[in-house]
Amino acid sequence: MSFSTLGLHADVLSILDTLAYETPTPIQQAAIPDVLAGHDVMAGAQTGTGKTAAFALPLIQRHLERGPAPKSIRVLVLTPTRELAQQVHQSFVKYSQGLGLNAVVAYGGASINPQIEALNAGCDVLVATPGRLLELAIKQLIDLSSVETLVLDEADRMLDMGFIIDIERILKRLPDTRQTLFFSATFNDDVFALSKTLLNQPKLIEVAERNAAAAQVEQRIYEVDSKRKAGLVAYLIGSKNWQQVLIFTRTKQAVDELTKELGKDGIKAAAVHGDKSQGARDRGLEEFKTGQVRALVATDVAARGLDIEQLQYVINYELPYNAEDYIHRIGRTGRAGKAGLAISLVAPKEKYLLEDIEKLTGEHFVPQWLEGFEPNLMAQEESTSSKRKPSKKALRAKALGQGGSGKSKTGKPRRR
Ligand code: AMP
Repeated sequence: MSFSTLGLHADVLSILDTLAYETPTPIQQAAIPDVLAGHDVMAGAQTGTGKTAAFALPLIQRHLERGPAPKSIRVLVLTPTRELAQQVHQSFVKYSQGLGLNAVVAYGGASINPQIEALNAGCDVLVATPGRLLELAIKQLIDLSSVETLVLDEADRMLDMGFIIDIERILKRLPDTRQTLFFSATFNDDVFALSKTLLNQPKLIEVAERNAAAAQVEQRIYEVDSKRKAGLVAYLIGSKNWQQVLIFTRTKQAVDELTKELGKDGIKAAAVHGDKSQGARDRGLEEFKTGQVRALVATDVAARGLDIEQLQYVINYELPYNAEDYIHRIGRTGRAGKAGLAISLVAPKEKYLLEDIEKLTGEHFVPQWLEGFEPNLMAQEESTSSKRKPSKKALRAKALGQGGSGKSKTGKPRRR
């Protein structure tokens, strides 16, 4: 199938030609005709499947068909993070080169004045994070009454990040009659509940199994003790001569520590987390993209929405507390059909997190040991056997006939 069969305009097709996009991805094949026809859409798609173009291309075309609308925002795209906002904004710019469409991006953590200036200069498509958008709206610096299409990108993450109240307040400022496009990589009850309040007879699009990890990513689990993880990461990058590796940790502190440790091992790494200024985060990402550093160490929130073409390696230095984050993390590789490798380092005390991921994805992982980094089994056995060993208090209670079996003398379970 080619893009020309989806009803796209010659101008848009010629841009796709210059970008060397030959075949629409499954989400693009499914969504583009529906968005062009003005339908509401609820789409579940894995990360890296081309979902940005799936909504950007038809929305650009609809804008062209209607002609210019001076100083009125026609399309509003909400994203959970500034990185994703930047990414989506860049995509709109890329997909509408020379077509006279003004796309503006607004997010928190950066000066508001240039964003206001850009808005005042004329904005057809606004890509924004909920907090900054609300700030602009409350200060009456923005008028959302002409929005024709609302896109919620990565809706699941917006809910995870607690944006629901902001979203509700934004919705009150939008026209009731509008097109709404709802994208989410994962679905749970909260995501469905939000979609119900937003969508009107939506077209449902599901191009991959729900909550499935990207199919073209090989997932490998190494069992390793926590204190040896930094050494293992340095060993993998060095011995395999990997040039571009994205590494996830759970905390900002772990990002900083690992970045330092890698530096000591001669591996240049950039750190990206929420305590870094926007400038520092942009710089880190740029250094990583241009190959000035080999590793980018990031927390989940900071890494959300990063699109680095041809990223082959992702390492989960620590498993996420939220199993859905695992899917997002490994979705940073294996993008647009390319192969990827996702390695997770699992310390004995993190095994329950791996079980959560198995439950969510329906996959069964067989953790392996890496030679030279085998976990200390003696320590593990000691800790499990010490768990099994009853305490003195329990032994005394048993001697006094005060339970331990969880049953009363009558054999009925005790009330707790
Ligand atoms: P997304 O899922 O929107 O973040 O897109 C993932 C990556 O795939 C981006 O780098 C896009 O530029 C690229 N991409 C999107 N659609 C296509 C396509 N039809 N052919 C080739 N690359 C694409």
